[in-house]
Amino acid sequence: MGRLKQMLINMDHIKCTECNGDGDLEKVTWHPQGFDRDIGYESSTIVVCNECDGEGFIEVPKPEKTGLEKALDALCRSTHPPRV
Ligand SMILES: [Zn+2]
Repeated sequence: MGRLKQMLINMDHIKCTECNGDGDLEKVTWHPQGFDRDIGYESSTIVVCNECDGEGFIEVPKPEKTGLEKALDALCRSTHPPRV
């Protein structure tokens, strides 16, 4: 539980541009009557957005947590190893 919370703190949520924050998309499928005819009909189905998995937003790492910061954390841990 604690780890999940930590993950959420370090993540930022941005609105999904694919579905515009809706979480699902209207997918239009064209059903031609035949190969040599250009008449047919369209049908649309609502599909879950692949980009955000239906959440309407995408999780991105917070920009504050830089690679340098992580490297410094690692360096700190290596110079001061935790006692076991
Ligand atoms: Zn989406």
